Amino acid sequence: MHFQWYPGHMTKAKRQMQEDIKLIDVVIELVDARVPLSSKNPDIDELAKNKSRIILLNKYDLASQKYTEEWKKWFESKGYFVALVNSKSGSGVKAVHEVIQKACKEKIERDRKRGILNRPIRAMIVGIPNVGKSTFINSFAGKACAKTGNKPGVTKGKQWIKLNKNVELLDTPGILWPKFEDQTVGLRLAFIGSIKEEILNITELSMEFIKFMHSKYSGMLEKKYEIEKSEDSLETLQRIADRRGCKLKGNELDVNKAAGIILDDYRNGRIGRITLEFPEITETVLEDTKA
Ligand code: GDP
Repeated sequence: MHFQWYPGHMTKAKRQMQEDIKLIDVVIELVDARVPLSSKNPDIDELAKNKSRIILLNKYDLASQKYTEEWKKWFESKGYFVALVNSKSGSGVKAVHEVIQKACKEKIERDRKRGILNRPIRAMIVGIPNVGKSTFINSFAGKACAKTGNKPGVTKGKQWIKLNKNVELLDTPGILWPKFEDQTVGLRLAFIGSIKEEILNITELSMEFIKFMHSKYSGMLEKKYEIEKSEDSLETLQRIADRRGCKLKGNELDVNKAAGIILDDYRNGRIGRITLEFPEITETVLEDTKA
């Protein structure tokens, strides 16, 4: 499958981000726990250099627990502070306060040594579209949180949400772009539903998904849809269509409808908690166990 989905606002978004980042101490990047690398922005390391960095593995309710833990360790080994969150239910969201404190410990120390007391930590949420930024901000900041309003000088025009006496959050998240030129990334983002459906061939996409499931989560589709195993992805799709009674006029199987059902089930966690990509260590282990 070939994706063409360059959003076209990159330069503007990047410039905005460069401006906003100047104002903040800690960059909180949301990634999707099912695709922690594919949902990561390729330029953020450069944009956010010299800032404290936090990675939130969001939607962890939809990802494999085991692999999410491994991703957490992986990101920690790269120097990030990491937390697992389900922004939709609020699970893990409160704990982000502590992570911010930890990530900014050095800055607080530095300020203290220079005699600067109680300067609030300024944080900003960033991430690619659909990763859960708005949901997270609503859950984290809550409705009760007063906006601090415009401040004179450097923060002109910016709205800050005062989270507590130490931390202020920029109220609008930074929207970043994924590594859109990479087709594997495109495919994974299509699986999780982060690429416009109009530009995708759903049947083809679901067959790619079936292929992936057969190689990494063998037996799971068969169990979910109560079908016999077939190595062939089209045949699997047809069996699911048959099982679900997806029929066209003349009793022909409606594989396109079944394809939509499978993707929708996956995206909503109804097939199970399925991570689509694995840290390097795990890839090796998976290969090893196969041999
Ligand atoms: P944004 O584009 O990054 O601001 O993303 P949104 O906040 O609009 O969220 C995109 C979709 O993901 C919405 O349907 C949310 O309900 C859903 N969502 C956000 N966080 C979570 C989560 O942790 N778990 C699950 N299951 N869904 C989530």
